Amino acid sequence: MLRVHTKALETYGIEKAKGGSSWIWAGCLNVRGMRGGSKWSTHGWGIAIDYDSDGNQLKWGSCKAAFAKAQYDDWWGIWEEEGWLSLGQAKNYYWMHI
Ligand SMILES: [Zn+2]
Repeated sequence: MLRVHTKALETYGIEKAKGGSSWIWAGCLNVRGMRGGSKWSTHGWGIAIDYDSDGNQLKWGSCKAAFAKAQYDDWWGIWEEEGWLSLGQAKNYYWMHI
C-alpha cells in the first residue's frame, strides 16, 4: 500500500492528490459480515480498502462511479502493478473497494 501511494503521488503530484477523490479514505478493517450476505466481509479480515465511498457507491456501475472515469486509469494501473484487485474493474460494482 505504501508503494501504491508513493507511485500515485509521483504520478499525480501533490496538488492533484489534495483535490482528488482517490485520496479520500473510506475504511479498511471492519469486523463484519458481507452486506446482504452470510459470509465474512474482506474488511473483516483487514484485507480490503475503500476510497471515496460517496463517489463510488456499492451498486454503482461504470456509468456512474467516479473511479470508472479515464482520469483514474493510472491509479488502477498502479494498484494492479502491486498485485491489488479493484472490484469495480473486475466486476463493475463497488468501485470504492480494492
Ligand atoms: Zn470495501
